[in-house]
Amino acid sequence: MAVIITDTCINCAACIDECPVEAIVDEDENPTGEEIYYVYADKCVECVTYHDVPACAEACPTEGCIVWGDPTEGMPHSETRQSNGTPVID
Ligand code: SF4
Ligand code: SF4
Repeated sequence: MAVIITDTCINCAACIDECPVEAIVDEDENPTGEEIYYVYADKCVECVTYHDVPACAEACPTEGCIVWGDPTEGMPHSETRQSNGTPVID
């Protein structure tokens, strides 16, 4: 799952242009139908080789909004990754 945007997202758009691999879509393109931003797990590389910590979480103004999900098989895993459900930035 890479990182997950949770329902405290306020659709502020701060994260979307920070993603180096365009893994984030806005609420209109969220495949779950939820009115929040969404990360495609099969695209997210947890910012490995791009940034020391996930750029989306660093840009997000909503405390604890972006959390770690299951690592996606075959995709890079961040050395800073914590257990599932833990905020990427406290
Ligand atoms: S962790 Fe990095 S690659 Fe993954 S969605 Fe956030 S900005 Fe994009
Ligand atoms: S920066 Fe945070 S609150 Fe803003 S759209 Fe992205 S996940 Fe949602």
